[in-house]
Amino acid sequence: MIFQRSIKTKVSAVGVGLHSGKKVRIALNPAKENSGIIFKRIDLKVPIEIKVEAEAIKETRLSSTIGNGKFKISTVEHLMSALSASGIDNILIEVDGSEIPIMDGSSISFIYLIKSAVVYEQSEIKKFAVIKDVIQVKDGEKFARFEPYKGFLVDFTIDFPHPAFKEENSRVEIDFFKDSYVNDISRARTFGFMQEVEYLRSNGLARGGSLDNAIVLDEYKIINDEGLRYSDEFVRHKILDAIGDLYMIGMPIIGKFTAYKSGHELNNKLLRLMLEQKNKWTIEHLDLHNEKTAILASDYLKEKTGRENIDLEVT
Ligand SMILES: [Zn+2]
Repeated sequence: MIFQRSIKTKVSAVGVGLHSGKKVRIALNPAKENSGIIFKRIDLKVPIEIKVEAEAIKETRLSSTIGNGKFKISTVEHLMSALSASGIDNILIEVDGSEIPIMDGSSISFIYLIKSAVVYEQSEIKKFAVIKDVIQVKDGEKFARFEPYKGFLVDFTIDFPHPAFKEENSRVEIDFFKDSYVNDISRARTFGFMQEVEYLRSNGLARGGSLDNAIVLDEYKIINDEGLRYSDEFVRHKILDAIGDLYMIGMPIIGKFTAYKSGHELNNKLLRLMLEQKNKWTIEHLDLHNEKTAILASDYLKEKTGRENIDLEVT
């Protein structure tokens, strides 16, 4: 059987909030079996907890924001993406502000932080959401879709009318039961357009945004001196975001996810539709000793126990 995972020790990190520009500290804490992923605002007089679930998403305009009543935590998607990639089921994340720090704009720092806390297997069996039928949402030409597949295949296409976006770099397909998230996705940074950044700043947002935590484009080109980390870094970052958005369901998905120009909003709509269409997916377990699930179970474990070979030092 594949069991649930948490971390052994408490670890913390400090960074800047992308929108507030303020310093924020997060602390990852171990959590017991079946408790799920819980965010906790500890800067409030009475701390509040927000449990991760598709319905906890309150805003999706610039990032994924979760909320409980009037209290919110923004930009959870990159940390959620790293938790998904690390196979974490149960964890308590304390944050002393209304935003998860942006770090370098990718999820590599969170991957490193989770690793340093030592991931371990717990005593309860892990749940997987297995897609049995097509589930799809559309918004004009944009769409996001689940369909049955033995693995977790992500096929993402972006289309930006901008000279820095080359057509050959607009689509990536990755099977997370076979390929390495850490190698192929975790270092892809968020990106933004100069004009957009100016507009956001004039509205009191993106105050913490800089060339240290985002790829920034002017009308013609990328303005970061160091250029891109992957030739198709933009679409890889959209995959990083989608992995985080989809993990709001609280368990890994077994199926194919196809997205065309999708983003936080459409990804979340797809999850909500999935919750409505309960006849189109089932919750299952993976067992190395069961003929039906042995290959999937072994692929999943191999990916989670490190096919990556990159240097995890974060500069
Ligand atoms: Zn992102």
